[in-house]
Amino acid sequence: MRRKYICGNWKMNKTSSEALAFANKINDFEFENVDVLIAPSFVSLESFKKSVKDKIEVAAQNVSEFDDGAFTGEVSTNMLKDIGVRNVIIGHSERREKFLESDEIVNAKIKRALSDNLFVILCLGESLEIKEENKELDFVKNELLNSLSGVENLKNIAIAYEPIWAIGTGKTCSPEDAEKMCREIREIINKNYGEISKEIRILYGGSVKPSNAKEILAKENIDGVLVGGASLDVNDFIEIIK
Ligand code: PGA
Repeated sequence: MRRKYICGNWKMNKTSSEALAFANKINDFEFENVDVLIAPSFVSLESFKKSVKDKIEVAAQNVSEFDDGAFTGEVSTNMLKDIGVRNVIIGHSERREKFLESDEIVNAKIKRALSDNLFVILCLGESLEIKEENKELDFVKNELLNSLSGVENLKNIAIAYEPIWAIGTGKTCSPEDAEKMCREIREIINKNYGEISKEIRILYGGSVKPSNAKEILAKENIDGVLVGGASLDVNDFIEIIK
């Protein structure tokens, strides 16, 4: 039985004081039988982690593939662990597209994070051009296998399928198409990794909001959602958890 996973990715939004105000509000909300995660910016990660109740998991939105050293502007797995952050989003399409993170870099980051016992949310998803050419299945399969190249154990990984054309655009992938891709991802994992495919959580992301979350989350192979815009408003995010 895979527990639903409701994850919020704040991207480059919210100051530390705004993050604190969010923490104070969500701390009053009681929930059970669901896992909840928030990924604030690096700047507010430590204070948010300290102010939010333990039940809410906290993630970094990115991490360096390198060990501590001369890498100006980077943040290491070691630094995350030191402040009690145990989760990291890797390979978000904004990192891939705007900061030129290749599958190889994503793969190195995943290996670095797993070897330091962090839990990884690996993001995958096709662009509009690829979808229009009907090549999304092959694209996502390659992205998945390249990103996981040489990774032997998927126990500490969740996958987020986020079609790029649905991110921040208001265009949601239909629940049927999202389910189809998530089922496909599970089958690829089954072929390559076996039984873990029954346990691994596969999330959908892209314009998830209170009005469509329920229908998306009802799908058999969709075990959670990665929410951008709608996670910024605590009331919307709570509605999605509900
Ligand atoms: P969105 O972003 O919910 O604003 O579309 C999703 C994401 O990028 O994780």
